[in-house]
Amino acid sequence: MTLWMSLWATLLKDLSKSAASGAGMRVDAVIFDWGGTLTPWHDIDLVGQWGAYAMVYDPGDEDLASRLAEAEMGLWRDQQTSRGANGTGTLDHVLAQCGINSESPRHGMALAAYLDAWEPHTLADPEALPLLSALRDEGMRVGILSNTLWPRWHHEAVFSRDGLTPYIDAAVYSSELPVAKPHADAFRRAMAAIDTLPEHTVFVGDRPWDDIHGAQQVGMRAILIPHSRLGEQAVAVDVTPDAVVRGLGEVLGVVLGWRAGAQRQ
Ligand SMILES: [Mg+2]
Repeated sequence: MTLWMSLWATLLKDLSKSAASGAGMRVDAVIFDWGGTLTPWHDIDLVGQWGAYAMVYDPGDEDLASRLAEAEMGLWRDQQTSRGANGTGTLDHVLAQCGINSESPRHGMALAAYLDAWEPHTLADPEALPLLSALRDEGMRVGILSNTLWPRWHHEAVFSRDGLTPYIDAAVYSSELPVAKPHADAFRRAMAAIDTLPEHTVFVGDRPWDDIHGAQQVGMRAILIPHSRLGEQAVAVDVTPDAVVRGLGEVLGVVLGWRAGAQRQ
């Protein structure tokens, strides 16, 4: 069997399997979470990450990294307890809480060191580019909705580095919003950015509460990739994803299966 025949047989198998898992739907767009979805999940030590910043900003301040990590954790706790009504804030919110002058030259160098420390954890999943490209080839639009403290320019640099930029129609970051996932307004902003309606949109994410519950409450269909070790970040929620896949490589088969189901109806 040639490679192409093998790939086609696998796709047909996925189509038949996924078509049985839900009624057909017209799919105009697929919106992705970023961390743990388009990137492989990594366990992160926030104090260690902020340590890269503190070492440059003020090497003599021994617990600056811990204070920065605690300030960041406070923002994430607020996002959780407010159910996304309070957004994630930004890196500037974290820095301001620790009395850091983000106008200073030391800050610029420290920020570069901090983002460098994150680089190994931002690499796209190898299956991301072929998936996004295939979705676009199939006539679907691709969006991103990420809960993040980082500025847009950094996310765009990450996507550009990994060759994903040409396949992303629009991205929405909570660092630019008053709300965050799972708040419905975050999902509405992401849909508006790529001009799609919930009944024609699929969301793909790794978090049952932020991503799956959030997308379904506004009427999207949601695919869970449950490979992330969320630990204390997990929020208990009674939710049933419309599909569960083992990795990004299975998303196309699910989406095409739903779309084929709609065409048969
Ligand atoms: Mg995620």
